Amino acid sequence: MAEIVIKNVRKEFGDFTAVKESSFTIEDGEFFMLLGPSGCGKTTTLRMIAGLELPTSGEIWLDGEEISQKPPSQRDIAFVFQMFALYPHMNVYKNLSYPLVSQGMNRAAVRDKVDEVAGILGIRDILKKPVGGLSGGDRQRVALGRAIVRNPKAFMMDEPLGALDAEFREHMSEELRALHDRMNATTVYVTHDQLEAMQMGDKIVVMNNAVVEQFGTPQEIYDKPASMFVADFIGSPSMNFLGFDGTVPEGTTSVDLQGQAMAVPRQIEGAAGKMVFGVRPEHVTLSDSGNYRGEVVATEYLGTTQIITLETPNGELKARVPSGQVATTGEKVGLGFNAETITLFDETSGRALRSDLNNGVLSNG
Ligand code: ATP
Repeated sequence: MAEIVIKNVRKEFGDFTAVKESSFTIEDGEFFMLLGPSGCGKTTTLRMIAGLELPTSGEIWLDGEEISQKPPSQRDIAFVFQMFALYPHMNVYKNLSYPLVSQGMNRAAVRDKVDEVAGILGIRDILKKPVGGLSGGDRQRVALGRAIVRNPKAFMMDEPLGALDAEFREHMSEELRALHDRMNATTVYVTHDQLEAMQMGDKIVVMNNAVVEQFGTPQEIYDKPASMFVADFIGSPSMNFLGFDGTVPEGTTSVDLQGQAMAVPRQIEGAAGKMVFGVRPEHVTLSDSGNYRGEVVATEYLGTTQIITLETPNGELKARVPSGQVATTGEKVGLGFNAETITLFDETSGRALRSDLNNGVLSNG
């Protein structure tokens, strides 16, 4: 069991707060993503879990034991730095065996362990080669192997694929995910790339400005964003936001957009004031009929689908529709939205107005 529990963790550097009271649980065996824009505090969070920074307040638990103030060497966590950090003058075998030899393991046990890990990573045939001459992919595998041989309770990875070109990055991310599925070791992975987080993660924490905005599965975060920040950060193009001033009276489940009643999910009932109507581009339909209308201002062909940009009475809106559908610039079309996919936000706080947010989501506070 290598569950990691973060409880009200805060980190200050002098008078700057890098992480504000953060709480979430990483379950045993999960591939867990820390996602957010540059400077939001994700690396600091990862470093606190590994013990490379100590929290100013709050608690970190690993495997049922509080480790908040322990040095890294007593945490049994492997930190995979930039994957190219290898000993260049040693061969692959030496790079893999070094962490074990320095722990005092005997030669036969070291040989068995290196053989096992080399088998997992598919690098048995290059054990005698110097790392200097290896391909990028093999170097990454050796660097991973260096972390795996120690049999840690959990792996910490900070943008491990960040320096790679797009094609190789995709290949390595698939390989990493497959490796995780074989080993089932708890892995915490920092990225600013929402697509990478969605593709690889079992769970995602979305951070912004030192605060945890939401945590949940990729689907929960995509379908039920807890804030406008999350709705905007996840998805491409991101969620559309139409601002309006109105109410969702008790007993009704629609809002008034320019005189047109738009259905919203039942759990939004009772909301009032300055709100934002949030709809993802793929949940917008275009038709000749329909009283809520928008003018086509641009079209972008993407193969099977196209992105239509429209000007509506409540602001700009993007729709993802089949590329066969004809939409001409300057034309006015009716817009339809599926009520179940709508998220309403409070304009001032930016938080979603909903009573069905999962328990991983922080309250509006
Ligand atoms: P990036 O992807 O750019 O690394 P991040 O989300 O990982 O972003 P952090 O590295 O956690 O962000 O940094 C969060 C904030 O804390 C940044 O503004 C950074 O400048 C600041 N910070 C991090 N480490 C220190 C430090 N040792 N002393 C002072 N400020 C720091």
